[in-house]
Amino acid sequence: MRINAKTKICMAIGDPIEHSLSPQMHNAGYEKLGIDSEYVYVACKVGVENIADFIKGVRAMQIRGVSCTIPHKMEVMKYLDEIDEVAKKIGAVNTIVNDDGVLKGCNTDLLGVDIPLEKMASLKNKKVALLGAGGAARAVAYTVTQRGARLVVYNRTIEKAEELAKEFGGEARSLEAVKEVKDMDIIINATSIGLDPNENQTPLAKELITNKHIVFDIIYVPYETRLLKEAKQQGARIIHGMEMLLHQGIAQFKLFTGYDGPEETMRNVLIEHLEQKEN
Ligand code: NDP
Repeated sequence: MRINAKTKICMAIGDPIEHSLSPQMHNAGYEKLGIDSEYVYVACKVGVENIADFIKGVRAMQIRGVSCTIPHKMEVMKYLDEIDEVAKKIGAVNTIVNDDGVLKGCNTDLLGVDIPLEKMASLKNKKVALLGAGGAARAVAYTVTQRGARLVVYNRTIEKAEELAKEFGGEARSLEAVKEVKDMDIIINATSIGLDPNENQTPLAKELITNKHIVFDIIYVPYETRLLKEAKQQGARIIHGMEMLLHQGIAQFKLFTGYDGPEETMRNVLIEHLEQKEN
């Protein structure tokens, strides 16, 4: 253990938080780069009613960086000194950086969407079916429209799909119209259908997926959802939700430490822990 009195603290907050893999991912990166005496990453359960006190604590203890997850991504915004333009547009902060007492809110979720997709294909003029219109879907909608894709949002509550489509540009449909995905290039699941412990569920009938599709399920527990398994069987190219977790984390790593996060090390740690959860 190389932690000492100069070690800077980074942390994840959420409620619940016990399932978070961010401590393993970031600490493995610190160790790989040999900066594990400079930085340590922990996680804390913080209730939404305590967020104002938590932010006071960040200032008092000079916490270097904070990763925010449910339910804090919107609520925390009013306690920060600055919010960057992307986080303002997405309407959520998943990252706080403490620069000598100035707390800046950012959003790296868009990179978690953008990097894995762009590695596979350019999004320009692609038809993207986004399933879901909740918090995570906002980062997806922002990213794909910024990249010039044509967005159609499918959601159980059609009003939420309409709001998202209006805000970022695109069309809205009920989840019942999802058979239209046959004509789309990319399908992104941002609903919680298929999330552990409901891993026998899928938002889409297997027959609707073809070998022309790219299917990205942002759910990462289980590591390979039923949607992704069936997409693979249909010959589609797939992206695991773990890639979003990884790339938003690598972007935070850079913001907190100034170093490029070691991608392979951080990915391997995530896969190892996600596979352990399944067994
Ligand atoms: P929200 O609660 O904000 O949104 C949930 C979405 O799922 C809504 O669109 C909701 O529809 C839909 N939904 C939920 N249950 C059903 C159902 N039974 N039938 C139809 N639609 C349903 O959650 P988030 O946006 O924060 O998270 C969504 C998923 O993304 C989660 O599984 C989460 O684990 C994952 N995630 C992954 C991340 C990653 O890094 N890979 C990051 C963040 C989230 P409606 O509007 O009708 O309620």
